[in-house]
Amino acid sequence: VPALSIQGLSKTYDNGFSALKGVDLTVPQGGFFALLGPNGAGKSTMIGIISSLFKPTTGSVHIFGTDLLENPSIAKQYLGVVPQEFNFNMFEKVEDILITQAGYFGIPAKEARPRAKRLLTALGLWDKRDSKSRDLSGGMKRRLMIARALIHKPKLLILDEPTAGVDIELRRSMWEFMQQINIEENTTIILTTHYLEEAEQLCKRIAILDHGEIRINTEMKGLLAQLS
Ligand code: ADP
Ligand code: ADP
Repeated sequence: VPALSIQGLSKTYDNGFSALKGVDLTVPQGGFFALLGPNGAGKSTMIGIISSLFKPTTGSVHIFGTDLLENPSIAKQYLGVVPQEFNFNMFEKVEDILITQAGYFGIPAKEARPRAKRLLTALGLWDKRDSKSRDLSGGMKRRLMIARALIHKPKLLILDEPTAGVDIELRRSMWEFMQQINIEENTTIILTTHYLEEAEQLCKRIAILDHGEIRINTEMKGLLAQLS
């Protein structure tokens, strides 16, 4: 089954604006998939629906074959999402944030601790485990968002503009880590970005969303040939 399958997805906001207009999208298992599009294309709307923040107006979403609207609790086990905005409890300590998150998935603290240590170490945050998240730098918060999204070993990780406002050195180390997770844990990774360059380096497949519609959905190589 595909990691993600979206059919006929549309979203009309209360003010009457249609941010998604019948999107069909299939993301195969295994690699990195880029969802590209200019600001306002509908990327965050799509991720909001996949994250169950709100419901689509029409259409369906399947995550590893499970219908998100019919079986949300099962579908969510497969999924880790890194939204654009930081949404931590600012007074909770770094390690506790991961343990709390694991609890939402029914993973006891005892089991979650070694995983939390591994993730925080790999992301350069282990020394900060007892700090409150509000005391972290922007780049550290970004990495903590990634660690939190991975605590329950999701099979699909979705990153919404993960490198926005992140300097080039940190960007590189974030992607190295992501590639390691992709290979070692066989996690499918979808990222949204408006940098074609970044997508080009990482992703085998790419889809382009524009004004709420998928314009292109192709192998990265094919796209580059088309553009040149
Ligand atoms: P992207 O993430 O690609 O920049 P978004 O999904 O954030 O795009 O937004 C798509 C369009 O929907 C934009 O034009 C935005 O202004 C509009 N939009 C987003 N959220 C709302 C909302 N709550 N109500 C009305 N319009 C919205
Ligand atoms: P700031 O947001 O204040 O610039 P950051 O948290 O972004 O600080 O990064 C501080 C430094 O930590 C970076 O310059 C980088 O060298 C280092 N760093 C970034 N990512 C990692 C990582 N995955 N593992 C180890 N060190 C890292």
